[in-house]
Amino acid sequence: MLLYASSLLRPGREPLLEPALWIQGDLLRHVGPRSDLPAAARESSILDLSGHVLSPGLVNAHCHLELTALEDIPYPGDFVAWIAAVLEAKSKLDFAAQCASLREGIRRSLQGGATTVGDHLSANAALEILLDAPLRGKAFVEVLGVVPEIAATLWQAAAGLRQEYSSSRMEIIPSPHSVHALDPEVLEKVLKQDLSVFSIHLAESEAEYAYFATHSGPLQDFIAGRGQARRRSQPSSIAELNAKGLLSGKILAVHGNYLSEAEINQLAQKQISLVHCPLSHRYFSHRRFPLESVRRHGLNLALGTDSLASAGSLSMLEVLRAMREEFPELSPEEIFYMATLGGAKALKLENQIGELVPGKKADLIAVPQGQGEEPLAALLKAEAVSWGMVEGNAVDLEWNQPSRRS
Ligand SMILES: [Zn+2]
Repeated sequence: MLLYASSLLRPGREPLLEPALWIQGDLLRHVGPRSDLPAAARESSILDLSGHVLSPGLVNAHCHLELTALEDIPYPGDFVAWIAAVLEAKSKLDFAAQCASLREGIRRSLQGGATTVGDHLSANAALEILLDAPLRGKAFVEVLGVVPEIAATLWQAAAGLRQEYSSSRMEIIPSPHSVHALDPEVLEKVLKQDLSVFSIHLAESEAEYAYFATHSGPLQDFIAGRGQARRRSQPSSIAELNAKGLLSGKILAVHGNYLSEAEINQLAQKQISLVHCPLSHRYFSHRRFPLESVRRHGLNLALGTDSLASAGSLSMLEVLRAMREEFPELSPEEIFYMATLGGAKALKLENQIGELVPGKKADLIAVPQGQGEEPLAALLKAEAVSWGMVEGNAVDLEWNQPSRRS
């Protein structure tokens, strides 16, 4: 098909005006001015989205779509009490409620501009729902448990899901939830799998910092209360990964709010990407995210929403606006890059997505563009996308189909 629009956003480059995109199957064949269209393309059916700006589909590099139903849990005052509240609220969802929660998370993600996600989900989640959804990305099946037997059981369950299901759009990856929430031996086994990327919550909270550095504080007490009082031997989660030889470019570091300058340098040396979730960061009132240091060391930065248990929205459009507010020193173009190519690199999908160029996947979104309005300004003010496409297929923005299992 042929797609026309008023403009097309390109990470790291000026927008293209009056673009024509020739899509064949799931791929972009030609992207350029209408005047440059190859003759063969002129045979295709045309969708004219004049009055709209096209953008690569946004990458939500960190979310927990299964937790969408937990949007109303009140903040109990500190991070560890929040973890306990989330676990309790989650345990009260029956299977039907869990399915509805995941479906609603997918629907809101699509409306908010994401076509690719790095989604954390439990080993007992209804994975088929995510695989059926018009989303690309990585399904990080969380391996966690501070008691070795529990950790080993969840590790087997996660590995079983990877064996049972396959999807060309959504790679299933057993991945540690975090270093502190996983038995050290199982952590090592999980990270030794020969897979593309592992998404791990790292240096997220002050409580995590104290747990590793001083073996004290609310997270230490919480973990001891769950049956494992063993002290970690290294002063931080990054240090533990490094000491075990597990700190590699296959790690996707999520949050990193409490990284030291030296650790940020270490991540940069290993070419590890970092995901910042501005809405969730604001919810917890963490210390200022170390943006300056991240930029100084050249770390690739991606953006995410996190879950509705700690963020007010699953919309990447909302995340772009939150970034504008949190870091007025960043240009809109830099923020747009983080939500497109930055996210694609973080999820090791930059060969397929992140920008609309020939040979990459036809994953894109459109938002209205007013007369004389700058294309990126139009994206930054959009409340929702008006059209989307994943792998060459138009997306139903009200997607909510029942799963095969429920
Ligand atoms: Zn998270």
